[in-house]
Amino acid sequence: MLPDALRTELAAVPDLRLLTQPDDLERFSRDAYDYSPVLQQRLAQCRAELVVRPETVDAVVRVAAGCRQHGVPLTLRGSGTGNYGQSVPLESGVVMLMSQLRAVRSIDQSSGVVTVECGCLMKDLNRELARVGRQLRLMPSTWRSATIGGFIAGGSGGIGSVRWGFLRDPGHLLGLEVVTMEQQPRVLQLEAGDAEALNHAYGTNGIITALRLATATSVDWQELVVDCPDWRTAVDLARRCTSAAIDLHLCTVLEAAVVELLPKWDLPQRRSDRLLLSVAPDAVSTVQRLASAVGAEMTHLGAEADRHGSGLRELSWNHTTLHLRQRDPAWTYLQMLLPQPEINCLETLKQTWGDDLLWHLEGVRQQGVQRLASLPLVRWRGAEALEQLMQHCRDLGALIFNPHVLTVEGGGLGVVDGDQVATKHRYDPAGLLNPGKLGGFSN
Ligand code: FAD
Repeated sequence: MLPDALRTELAAVPDLRLLTQPDDLERFSRDAYDYSPVLQQRLAQCRAELVVRPETVDAVVRVAAGCRQHGVPLTLRGSGTGNYGQSVPLESGVVMLMSQLRAVRSIDQSSGVVTVECGCLMKDLNRELARVGRQLRLMPSTWRSATIGGFIAGGSGGIGSVRWGFLRDPGHLLGLEVVTMEQQPRVLQLEAGDAEALNHAYGTNGIITALRLATATSVDWQELVVDCPDWRTAVDLARRCTSAAIDLHLCTVLEAAVVELLPKWDLPQRRSDRLLLSVAPDAVSTVQRLASAVGAEMTHLGAEADRHGSGLRELSWNHTTLHLRQRDPAWTYLQMLLPQPEINCLETLKQTWGDDLLWHLEGVRQQGVQRLASLPLVRWRGAEALEQLMQHCRDLGALIFNPHVLTVEGGGLGVVDGDQVATKHRYDPAGLLNPGKLGGFSN
């Protein structure tokens, strides 16, 4: 039970709103974990006892101090779009909504480096960056609704990964402002080296209040749809595009069965294996040439910026899964890096799993090398079948990032990151921040 004394103390904190209605407690104890039937079962009963929404860093410090003093778990939440129950309070306690800390503090005009508060939505941040000719390098397909703090703490990559790799690659995160969960919480300014341990740590080892990030020069991305004569051609063309001397922001490959189940919007009405590309204006003619050479048909949709909520970005990454689940919630998904040459693995798995496995690939840069990752759609046939499928993928050389587990390590390479754990011991020695999510830490 939440101590009454903590409630009373928090009620007196300036710039802090307390949400106590059962609907709020329920709503803010969930994220987008329902994409995983495994997590749906595991997390259905988890519920916060209190939700708080600070408007200042001072109020964040007061919440951290109160929870620490009373030994109450504290789970942070941006927009709650995470897919692995990252912001679900496993051990109840307090959920803190970070969404009111949303100022863009500064943009360095010469370097483009931005300092922004954690709760700023990426769409708002991108709008501010555009005023000075800059844009975010990496965004999840939830960029309209998700916070930048939640992306760094819980995300991994997405739109832009074909060019910029993943969030944990050195060079993206240049510094953090962090509130600790020590006996006397402190506000620290961390440089890039120390900030790295909080990158993709699910808010388990520090409360991020502001971030310093590198950005990219604005490009007027152009959207292209390329319809291919068959699946092999589509995969081969994706490889050609990602290794050509063109600027790419997105390279999604969808098998025809997926294309058929996605919203039609104003896209070409063909049932074919398809590439969705975002490219720089000077790359359009090159993609046209590469497509024609393999008998594929390219359609130029125009500038990404003009297409609002129905752009190719909203059909890519986990938005593909979202759309299929809206038609039939029996679809779930996996995440993996495919072994090369990808086509062998793709065809072998297809032969075995048939229409229970539909292919969705994304071009990514992994440790400096162009690769194809996959977020295949998987028809849910129970936990055992899912395990068998994952084992089959691993046997063929795929690297699985399991979206059906709760811990940072489980969803990554399965390896404990000593820096993340050491940072938790330092900044959250009582283990109160988002307990149960950092597998390498035990109280
Ligand atoms: P939340 O879900 O609220 O939080 C994520 C994690 O960060 C939690 O562990 C939380 O405790 C922690 N956290 C939040 N704020 C702070 C803070 N201030 N300090 C410390 N910790 C904090 N992810 C991708 O990486 N790429 C994608 O392309 C992508 N596509 C998606 C598509 C769909 C349809 C959906 C549902 C999800 C997708 N995601 C993707 C997952 C998710 O949307 C992103 O990772 C998003 O950036 C999370 O932001 P959020 O504000 O919703 O964070």
